[in-house]
Amino acid sequence: MRLILSSVCQDIVRLHRHPRACECGKCWGYYLEDGLRAVIGGPAIPLGFRNDEFVMALRSRPIEGMGSRFAAFVIPHICDTVTVETKRIRTSATDPLRIATIDAPNGGAIGITFAPGKRQPTTPEPRPCVAMDRASGSVSESC
Ligand SMILES: [Zn+2]
Repeated sequence: MRLILSSVCQDIVRLHRHPRACECGKCWGYYLEDGLRAVIGGPAIPLGFRNDEFVMALRSRPIEGMGSRFAAFVIPHICDTVTVETKRIRTSATDPLRIATIDAPNGGAIGITFAPGKRQPTTPEPRPCVAMDRASGSVSESC
């Protein structure tokens, strides 16, 4: 299992196949399709768990007292399976949707925004996904 430690906000984020960012949004990362190689960006420090030890520690979780130890490590600067990307990822935290409104003639309002929702797993600079609930009209992040 891989994670990133943000050297800016100290947040630790587990990597998934979709891009995830730290609390401040300056560090991000994701797994590529093979589930082994990862791409990270920003001033992120990649971390790893020994998966076998982690699973054993979870399985032997005690009722009280000290839990089992497992190995976690800092992934070196040069690693065949971690690529450092210099582009900045855009998330709803770093780049929230800007929605302008126009008053409707018979009351209410019409929201207008750019639709950044297109997303592909292999897109080098993933963008946030958005969805609108037709019933309520609310806009939310969908991925
Ligand atoms: Zn951060």
